[in-house]
Amino acid sequence: MALTHAQIILWLQQCALLFEKNSDYLTDLDREIGDADHGLNMNRGFRKVQEKLPEFAGQDIGTILKTTGMTLLSNIGGASGPLFSTFFIRAAKPTASLQNLELNQLVEMVTEGVEGIVSRGKAEPNDKTMCDVWWPVVESLKHANEQNLSIKEALSQAQVAAEKAAENTIAMQARKGRASYLGERSIGHKDPGSASVVLMIQALANSINA
Ligand code: ADP
Ligand code: MG
Ligand code: MG
Repeated sequence: MALTHAQIILWLQQCALLFEKNSDYLTDLDREIGDADHGLNMNRGFRKVQEKLPEFAGQDIGTILKTTGMTLLSNIGGASGPLFSTFFIRAAKPTASLQNLELNQLVEMVTEGVEGIVSRGKAEPNDKTMCDVWWPVVESLKHANEQNLSIKEALSQAQVAAEKAAENTIAMQARKGRASYLGERSIGHKDPGSASVVLMIQALANSINA
């Protein structure tokens, strides 16, 4: 079964819900190795996206994702704003004019989005950034697609991969963004942006389980 237009809208709604619920948690993570604003940033951004949901009803998936990206760009700010925005704006390309996504199309969408984040932020593996979760998510989804799994099963596996990858950032030393100013003192704390990626994948899994 394909991921439907309605489930994409539900995904964004779930993002708004989860970022609201976890705003303090994310901000607390950012207090340890950053400037204590990450949860506030994400919550503000997705609240604005939520306000746009009614106008998404008659639009194709690409248009929805593009508007989401533009909305995040003007509302999140900081280092993560342009990066999460880029994810959606790039993810809009392979989904232009589509109303449903098969797993291979979802893989393409996420792969494009993550390539956008990497080309913008220039993160490398183990730099302790959101990319350290995005890459394992892409790998997990590709693997699930090769095995012809259902989208539901693919997302359930991607969620597990994301959670594990976010835990793995604890042991890393930050080499990008604000946390890198701390040098070795950034070790021992979970990367806030990585925790946000986990929530985005959880939101997508929720949208299909709803
Ligand atoms: P700021 O650091 O400007 O306050 P946020 O707190 O909203 O921005 O976001 C911080 C998160 O952004 C980090 O936890 C990290 O995951 C992510 N990040 C920072 N720089 C980069 C980068 N160059 N590439 C990928 N992700 C990055
Ligand atoms: Mg911050
Ligand atoms: Mg900031």
